[in-house]
Amino acid sequence: MDAVVAANESLVSELAALNSAVSTCRSCRLAETRTQAVFGSGDPDAELMFVGEAPGFHEDQQGLPFVGAAGKLLERLLGEIGLTRDEVFIGNVLKCRPPGNRDPLADEIEACQVHLFRQIELIQPRVVATLGNFATKLLSGDPTGITRVHGRERDVRLGQTRVLLYPIYHPAAALYTQAMLRVLEEDFRRLPELLGRQQAPVNSVEAVPEPLHSEELAAEEAERQLGLF
Ligand code: SF4
Repeated sequence: MDAVVAANESLVSELAALNSAVSTCRSCRLAETRTQAVFGSGDPDAELMFVGEAPGFHEDQQGLPFVGAAGKLLERLLGEIGLTRDEVFIGNVLKCRPPGNRDPLADEIEACQVHLFRQIELIQPRVVATLGNFATKLLSGDPTGITRVHGRERDVRLGQTRVLLYPIYHPAAALYTQAMLRVLEEDFRRLPELLGRQQAPVNSVEAVPEPLHSEELAAEEAERQLGLF
């Protein structure tokens, strides 16, 4: 059997196994109120992955991510850079809908992040675009808000996977704010350049921040703000 075909079959079956584990996951309270878990969808071999916040009402009903108005906007923006949603992978920090679309709670994010990190490990995207604050803070390990970091790519290691992390506004936030929509459109237009960029040399590993040490990074950010380095 062709090695590439075998690798793809193995990837698809590992993602399917993860999907099955997520669909029966009861690691946090959201299992009690969800209609179904929303694993994410798209190309298992995608070079570009989007990570949003959590499923909303329509996503919870249909079992697919970004199917409402925010999803339509995401599809339009993808179309403008020559991509369809089938050519990327779209997922969320939380796989189950918080009741009433409230914000994710810290213990829910902590319980669910294992699924997201495993998705990234399997898909091995070149660029991970984080949509809004929750995904950006989780994957950068940095508490700085999206307003300050949007459009600024960072070479990071997520688990064992090196990716270009690219924070942008969440399409749902841009739906009703023209100024935010224009910024999102502008940031989106840089995605083809980022996808074509060569990975930085491995020997620049010190430059790759370790995510998920939020206390250290919060202290570092505080020092930076004080002008200590
Ligand atoms: S939100 Fe995540 S951790 Fe909580 S039940 Fe759903 S899949 Fe499990």
